[in-house]
Amino acid sequence: MQTTEELFRDDATLAECDATVLAVETDGGIVLDRTVFYPQGGGQAGDAGALIAADGRRVAIADTRKHPEHPGVVVHRPAEGADLSWLAPGTAVRAAIDVARRQAHRRFHSATHLLCALVPQPVDGCSITAGYARLDFHMTEPLDKDALTAGLARLVAEARPVRTRWISEDELDANPQLVRSMSVQPPRGHGRVRLVEIEGVDLQPCGGTHVGNTAEIGAVVVTKIEKKSARTRRVVLGFAGG
Ligand SMILES: [Zn+2]
Repeated sequence: MQTTEELFRDDATLAECDATVLAVETDGGIVLDRTVFYPQGGGQAGDAGALIAADGRRVAIADTRKHPEHPGVVVHRPAEGADLSWLAPGTAVRAAIDVARRQAHRRFHSATHLLCALVPQPVDGCSITAGYARLDFHMTEPLDKDALTAGLARLVAEARPVRTRWISEDELDANPQLVRSMSVQPPRGHGRVRLVEIEGVDLQPCGGTHVGNTAEIGAVVVTKIEKKSARTRRVVLGFAGG
């Protein structure tokens, strides 16, 4: 199966693109030749949105996943009860994401990188949604909620640029300290890995969607710190004011 061109990897600000339907799976999952929809992965939730035809017909997309059998293929999952009868291989559509949901993912995902810089411990779990983000650190020492919230506010106020660049898998293998997460390994098999750098703060391989500058993260607070296990501290983030 032809892989999907993943436009969000090089530009997380793209809200829509023109695409062609390659396949409609038996379970209703829709495969396009290219997409701006991020498939769930690396702890980050998948995008929602719509596929829209030139004549105005549309299919609401509730979630996006990686194809379970074909690496590099993105599957757009239609909302319950969506009419897929007009979709067939070759159908031209405009693929448009839910921008508010994506923006929340970008803000929270970038905030988790700031948290990695504030808590220099291995990460053994991560979940990023539009409503909250949580990061599990492999550590036994306690963490201070207010100190972490203040640290995040400082790094947001410093308005640090966030950049991505690609390196070869060989370069990554030569620099294993770049891998922060114990559970989420960077996507491999394509010969190259994407690095996300928050200038002067954090550098790690990551395929997710981020803001272009930490100022865009806005007001983020630590809502909860849990002792998830003897060796795990879970930090939960929310947007200030809900
Ligand atoms: Zn990331």
